[in-house]
Amino acid sequence: TTFSDFDLAGPVLKALTKEGYETPTPIQAQAIPLVMEGGDILGIAQTGTGKTAAFALPLLHHLCKYPDMPAPGAVRCLVIAPTRELASQIAEAFSKYGQCLSLRVVKVFGGVPIRKQMRDLHRGADVLVATPGRLIDLMEQNAVDLSYVEKLVLDEADQMLDLGFIHPLRRIAGAVPEDRQTLFFSATMPDNVSGLSKQFLKNPKKVSI
Ligand code: AMP
Repeated sequence: TTFSDFDLAGPVLKALTKEGYETPTPIQAQAIPLVMEGGDILGIAQTGTGKTAAFALPLLHHLCKYPDMPAPGAVRCLVIAPTRELASQIAEAFSKYGQCLSLRVVKVFGGVPIRKQMRDLHRGADVLVATPGRLIDLMEQNAVDLSYVEKLVLDEADQMLDLGFIHPLRRIAGAVPEDRQTLFFSATMPDNVSGLSKQFLKNPKKVSI
């Protein structure tokens, strides 16, 4: 398999060529066509497997195919991650793979002043990468509008539960539209993670490596 087999939008393929990516990793080969079909995904994969591109590339393809100006404060693709380090890495990956598109990527996480994040969100975001606690703070300040979310990603769900984010995650689930597409990734699938996945996913296809 090569990336050109996936029928990804031209600007996405161009970024991959620039970055020197030739062959999809196993998780990418499995997940990319399924995400492009539009259904929900339950992915079991560790970091270092190319998991970020497995969800970022088909979401960028979607943004390319259906360009739209996000409304003020509104978010089109929402990615939730457990830590600021991971959120920053994911936001960087979207910027890298989206370098040939005109795209607003915003990241928000705790431990830094909220004001700048409120300003960043004001113009809306094609992609918002957020940690759960700070996203709830921003929702409470009416700084973010999740009612337009088309694509939701939960990354490292097991770690988010270990960090005690169950209530924020439930509130976020209640704030996004029912008819969104959801991609749920976890390195492990104990009962509590499997239970959480059922609250987020509809008829998911499973991918694991
Ligand atoms: P991740 O598991 O998403 O953290 O990715 C691990 C590393 O592999 C990152 O530095 C990516 O830039 C790189 N990477 C991901 N997919 C590919 C690929 N298909 N070809 C080459 N490098 C890749």
